[in-house]
Amino acid sequence: MKKRVAVLGATGSIGKSTIDVLRAGGERFEIVLLSSHTGVSGLRALSREFPAAALALTGPDTAGSDAPANVYRGKEGLLRAIAGIAPDIVVNGIAGAAGLEPSLAALDAGADLALANKETVVMAAPLVFALAKRKGRRVLPVDSEHHAVSSLLEAHGRENAGEIILTASGGPFRKRKREDFARITVEEALAHPTWNMGPKITVDSASLANKGLEVIEAAGLFTMPPDRISVVIHPQSIVHSMVRLKDGAVYAQLSRPDMRLPIHNALYYPECTPCSLEPLDFTGLTLEFEAPDSTAFPMLPLAYEAAGRGGLYPAAYNAANEAAVAAFLTKRAGFLDISRIVDYVLNMDWTAAGVFESPEALQIILEADGKARKAAETYISEKLYACS
Ligand code: MG
Repeated sequence: MKKRVAVLGATGSIGKSTIDVLRAGGERFEIVLLSSHTGVSGLRALSREFPAAALALTGPDTAGSDAPANVYRGKEGLLRAIAGIAPDIVVNGIAGAAGLEPSLAALDAGADLALANKETVVMAAPLVFALAKRKGRRVLPVDSEHHAVSSLLEAHGRENAGEIILTASGGPFRKRKREDFARITVEEALAHPTWNMGPKITVDSASLANKGLEVIEAAGLFTMPPDRISVVIHPQSIVHSMVRLKDGAVYAQLSRPDMRLPIHNALYYPECTPCSLEPLDFTGLTLEFEAPDSTAFPMLPLAYEAAGRGGLYPAAYNAANEAAVAAFLTKRAGFLDISRIVDYVLNMDWTAAGVFESPEALQIILEADGKARKAAETYISEKLYACS
């Protein structure tokens, strides 16, 4: 029987890799829903290739565009499409906090969730896993690090794991002089050495906020306390993460830096089938590791702080960072301002005892997200513009 697949964020980086894997899978899969935020022409091209798929456009400026007819519109349209179509599996490649509600809608509709949207787990892990459990569905991580950790834990036994070691490429500024950080341009931040991704996550990789979010994500996905999750810089992005067992042995997952492997494994789970990835060639391969510089990249220690405090701190960290990165990309903030903005927002009170058990949990999380963005904007307009 064909697996009915929805691809959310189909015209983005994860979406494109997912479509590649689905093309290679041929008759195994049927694409039933494709969504994009603003990629109207990309979605149009996909609809010609996969005419049976329903389409959804969530972006605000797409209403008057030359989009194909009969398209689900806006966030509500996408949630309605997921509920009505009820796919077998939803690949969520939406960027940012906007991915949370579609993730919940997917699980609610009885779909497995192949999750590339780390914000879903960062903002609402307890909510997501309670829903998955209630519906008997799986959350399959499609972040390369978490895919690695997940497969290692499955192979060696979750109960035997003492520590999760996440690898980080270190981004383009690993060797940059710290005194030059204030002059980092948007163009420099968007030039990632090993991964080709969307602009927001590329800036996050440069600031190590992406790794910070991944620490919080790992804590949520694998119910591991943050002090048993460490980060090591590994510029080649060949070791995708490691697990140290209680006996001291460390196991690693190695492959080329290509998102098609985690996507492939999520779509075929639990089968281990050949993936179109080129094999890893060890000839002349050098693997380097070094400690991250927490002083130069404060987004990493700030993430540990948010993870340790729990409650709405991770959601606030994420929202403040999204606002800060948007300001950086539009040149309203400098690179160093990103962590200043997030630090400022995290200094507010985000404690919220029992929030995830509340029937209004989702609403409370979304309100916190909005409040953190607003606080970040206040900082940008009052503190940054006041100085310039
Ligand atoms: Mg990652």
